[in-house]
Amino acid sequence: KASASAQPLKNADELIDSVETFIFDCDGVIWKGDKLIDGVPETLDMLRSKGKRLVFVTNNSTKSRKQYGKKFETLGLTVTEEEIFASSFAAAAYLKSIDFPKDKKVYVVGEDGILKELELAGFQYLGGPEDGGKKIELKPGFLMEHDKDVGAVVVGFDRYFNYYKVQYGTLCIRENPGCLFIATNRDAVTHLTDAQEWAAYVMCISILGGGSMVGAFVGSTQREPLVVGKPSTFMMDYLANKFGIQKSQICMVGDRLDTDILFGQNGGCKTLLVLSGVTSLSMLQSPNNSIQPDFYTNKISDFLSLKAA
Ligand code: PLP
Ligand code: CA
Repeated sequence: KASASAQPLKNADELIDSVETFIFDCDGVIWKGDKLIDGVPETLDMLRSKGKRLVFVTNNSTKSRKQYGKKFETLGLTVTEEEIFASSFAAAAYLKSIDFPKDKKVYVVGEDGILKELELAGFQYLGGPEDGGKKIELKPGFLMEHDKDVGAVVVGFDRYFNYYKVQYGTLCIRENPGCLFIATNRDAVTHLTDAQEWAAYVMCISILGGGSMVGAFVGSTQREPLVVGKPSTFMMDYLANKFGIQKSQICMVGDRLDTDILFGQNGGCKTLLVLSGVTSLSMLQSPNNSIQPDFYTNKISDFLSLKAA
């Protein structure tokens, strides 16, 4: 969608008054790795005191809702599990929404968060971080068996990723009729901790995101996944339904153009880019970038200071 250039946010109250709900992306907006971003608690308190609904959406599938609840608590933020929509939860919620049979299984390429959410939703699964891990000898007679009851392969960020997992998941997708190929997210790069941010900054090393694991499966299956994380509309539709919110009454706040801002725009929401994460002003204004939010500002605590002149 071609849109006008983003405007610097000048009057935060006008934006706040124009919507009922704020959806906040997490990394780069609320925290950076393990560190809370400046002024976040006061900003969330102010929005709650004005009666705004707050929702938190993250593409990071390594934790479950419950585990994110603990992270918010550790950072001193009062957020309930029901307000958190991680892509791990989205994978389980998607399977529920299509009545994925409980006698079928899910093969998981990913970490603990996905396993926890599938378990909570009552789905059978196999795979997970510990799967594979041995060199596969490709010699005459090589044969890999796969479970014929696998009806979906879920691929997310996985720091234990290996050849076996791609081979196994690909067999399921190619050999089991109707097997679904679901991706939690396709973020190309990520930053998990201060140490990684340091590596990225000092050494110019990109830390791979879930998109790289998903990409291996796209290469091997020649199929496109169904993405449940941002920018796909699944989570937006899910939470709009769940809370009974009109999307025009939502402002999506994020630090990333191709996930957060597109997610908001795909949903018909207002969008605000914050520069406290992965996107700089020059990236936003680059002629190579076509994704323009309605507004941009440095960080969400600007809500406390940007008043009408
Ligand atoms: N995926 C992984 C593995 C991450 O570490 C991160 C950020 O830390 C993300 C995705 C992006 O998360 P968010 O959507 O909260 O920005
Ligand atoms: Ca982010």
